[in-house]
Amino acid sequence: MTSENVFDPASAWLPPGDAPLVGDELRALLKQAFAIEEGGPSPAAVALEVGPSALSEAAKAALAAAVGGASEQVVEDGAARAAHANGMSYLDLVRRSAQPPRVPDAIVLPASHDEVGAVLRACAEHGVAVVPFGGGTSVVGGVAPEPGGFAAVIALDLARLDQLVEVDEISWTATLEAGVTGPRAEELLAARGFTLGHVPQSFERATIGGYAATRSSGQLSTGWGRFDALVERVRVATPVGDLDLGRAPGSAAGPDLKQLVLGSEGAFGVVTSVTVRVRPTPEVRRHEGWRVADLAAGVEVLRTLAQRGPRPDLARLSDEVETAMGVATGGGGEDHAGGCLVLVGWEGFADDVERRATAATAILEAAGAVPLGEQAAESWRHGRFRAPRLRDELLGAGLLIETLETATSWRELHNLHARVGDVLREALDGSSPLVACHVSHLYAAGASLYFTVLARRDADDPVGQWTRAKAAVMDALAAAGATLTHHHAVGADHAPWLAAEDGELGVELLRAVKDRVDPAGILNPGKLLPLK
Ligand SMILES: Cc1cc2nc3c(=O)[nH]c(=O)nc-3n(C[C@H](O)[C@H](O)[C@H](O)COP(=O)(O)OP(=O)(O)OC[C@H]3O[C@@H](n4cnc5c(N)ncnc54)[C@H](O)[C@@H]3O)c2cc1C
Repeated sequence: MTSENVFDPASAWLPPGDAPLVGDELRALLKQAFAIEEGGPSPAAVALEVGPSALSEAAKAALAAAVGGASEQVVEDGAARAAHANGMSYLDLVRRSAQPPRVPDAIVLPASHDEVGAVLRACAEHGVAVVPFGGGTSVVGGVAPEPGGFAAVIALDLARLDQLVEVDEISWTATLEAGVTGPRAEELLAARGFTLGHVPQSFERATIGGYAATRSSGQLSTGWGRFDALVERVRVATPVGDLDLGRAPGSAAGPDLKQLVLGSEGAFGVVTSVTVRVRPTPEVRRHEGWRVADLAAGVEVLRTLAQRGPRPDLARLSDEVETAMGVATGGGGEDHAGGCLVLVGWEGFADDVERRATAATAILEAAGAVPLGEQAAESWRHGRFRAPRLRDELLGAGLLIETLETATSWRELHNLHARVGDVLREALDGSSPLVACHVSHLYAAGASLYFTVLARRDADDPVGQWTRAKAAVMDALAAAGATLTHHHAVGADHAPWLAAEDGELGVELLRAVKDRVDPAGILNPGKLLPLK
């Protein structure tokens, strides 16, 4: 059992430059397992060529004026532009060498809500597309500098909006500016005795504005709620004015417009600050591992916990393949007895954690689950934050490695798990595909499925290889009535499937909203809504 009273930002991604995670032995093993002839450097390491900026002198002057006359906050430096050229999906990384992306013409760094509004007005006036940029961790093409028919495109980097504006100790809420990163939010809140406790795997780099813009989910979202469920109030700048939405913890004043902004991925405006529910720093954090006989047994346990309670804050079930992979890489569960790994965790007041953990233990034991103790959860937690770096190294070993996610009802969960696995194996046939999955983010009615796929990368056409496989999965999700994304969002990559989720009329409604707040169409062209 662990008992910590401070959030531990050290569990974030390892800094680059540490010893490699993929040693020579593992590299040789992977080459054999996936029949890879040659690896080579990670495509992510490829330097992009950066041409001259297409920003006109007039636009540049207007942007400098918008950020308080500080021309150094309009950055045209090549390295900065290259660093804002893509997000962090597998496609983003392999494209850097296979099909180098366009880079933004400048990075603009406003320092306040009003400056963001002024930048948007300047861009509308001068015909410059705007891509809001938080941590740049999008895995769906959300920060791709698509000009959408305009001559120039800027990355609007929110890094200077980095303040904790206010903590309301009575209401347990905090207002944070959009550019505050996960670790910084926790550091600022811990100094006031609170935590946000929103911990996606991209925690170290992702930002408050990015969480809101993509409706992200973290490792505790089963108990604490997904990010959009934590938002009390959101402030947004648009080219035609401001939105300040959310006045009370509950309201019947028509549709909840906050929800129109949350998940709008920079297509309707730029989130500048968010008021979120926070909790006192947990007295106790208790995470532990269990082994169940198989996926079906694990799903039944999670469903009971989600529906009957007590609901854990962390809940996650690896299928047989993911469990075996975790054992092989030391990423969770040291026990080699097969079956499936279940992780459950509770954080909060000591008496509440004790009560919920004791009741959950009884449910797990009644289902025949075998306790693996806190070490299994701890090694998962450690491995989880190494995963992004591990992926970059595996790319260097010649692998295709990517993740995708969805959600569906408890009734459909098994069918969908099997279907997506089949579709991926078929689409990547001949490339030794390995498909692993876990169930997480539990709701009373269902849960999320998160797939990891590894295969031999097609050295001649890595982009086409994955684009075709991903499209086959998206078609299968649409056909199965599952959501096209549980938390990665729509971005550019999923936009062609939005009508399958919302219907044609639904997409038209979203376009009508965009036309009202962004009549020039400068905001993040091609994200959320497909380019016309
Ligand atoms: C290794 C890895 C692990 C991940 N794990 C998770 C996970 O566990 N859970 C999860 O939910 N997601 C996960 N993601 C996806 C991603 O981290 C999330 O979508 C995250 O919320 C994005 O935050 P960001 O600040 O990096 O946003 P960015 O990537 O910078 O932007 C995301 C989108 O939002 C827009 N945007 C950004 N900031 C604003 C703003 N202030 N106003 C308006 N629009 C804005 C951008 O234009 C873009 O379309 C993961 C990504 C990676 C690379």
